[in-house]
Amino acid sequence: MKIATSLIAALFLASAATAVMPDDPAKIDTCTKPGVVALTFDDGPGMYNDQLLALLAKKNVKATFFVLGSMIAANAQQAGALKKILAGGHQLASHTYSHGNLDAMTEDAMRLEISKTSDIMFQHAGVRPAYMRAPEGRCAAACTKVMEGLGLVISHWNVDTNDWRFKDLAPATAADKSMEEINKVIIQDSNPATDSFILLEHEIHKFSVDLVAERVIDTITAKGYKFVTMEECVGKPSYLTGSVVPPVVPPTTNTTGPAVPPTTGPVVPPSAGVTTGAPQKTSSGPIVPTITTGNKGANSAGLVRAGAWAMGVAAAVGFAML
Ligand SMILES: [Zn+2]
Repeated sequence: MKIATSLIAALFLASAATAVMPDDPAKIDTCTKPGVVALTFDDGPGMYNDQLLALLAKKNVKATFFVLGSMIAANAQQAGALKKILAGGHQLASHTYSHGNLDAMTEDAMRLEISKTSDIMFQHAGVRPAYMRAPEGRCAAACTKVMEGLGLVISHWNVDTNDWRFKDLAPATAADKSMEEINKVIIQDSNPATDSFILLEHEIHKFSVDLVAERVIDTITAKGYKFVTMEECVGKPSYLTGSVVPPVVPPTTNTTGPAVPPTTGPVVPPSAGVTTGAPQKTSSGPIVPTITTGNKGANSAGLVRAGAWAMGVAAAVGFAML
């Protein structure tokens, strides 16, 4: 008994050290149907985004981009990447604003990470993502409650290139190592008739875009899987109510013309137990309303609607600031 307890403790410590495997069903790490792979790219939009989009177009693969609000804010070129991603038929999702550890934040700080990213994505691409991925996969009970309260799908993964670990190696070596888990878990040990995957890669490492992405696509396609977005993988819409998803064909308009306010869709009043406070100025971001959930008995659909509604208010207020 004592040995068993020690073993369990050791396993727990080992998993805590790696720290990223899901510990509750709220974290989605597999698709709802077999034979598909959701290819996901984190930490962008980065400087290799155009190159990656060209590869995905050539391979006719649709992917999901978990982008950082801070990267979008960093410069206009990266902000412009959001529309290119949408024009390519890919899905945009949130990887928070600062890439900080959500589990070390207050609930208000967690909400701000989401709302600031949602606002800047709406300003640049008209969408408010319904899918989020916690930096390093760190989203414990308090974080899970906040994200679900905002109506977000907490997106984990079940196979990893681990590309970031190899970024300092020679590119060919780094690419080989980034394929190791893919080869083991998907190519050797899986069956497209029964299995599905959410695959993690990063778009900010040159070797990963130069060498890994194409190998991932070719080997997994040859195994018999089809690549899908997270929306198709999970079966829930990509974006929250109030999003204005642009047409797939990229606009040919100039970027210096007058801003056209977006429509924000039907406004759904919040349910009981959810109130939207007066807009508050944040230290570095746009004006956002506070969202408080006071009634634990409120149903989750109501919370989703209310969260979307509140974000729509934030959008309208934020846009008026432009
Ligand atoms: Zn990340």
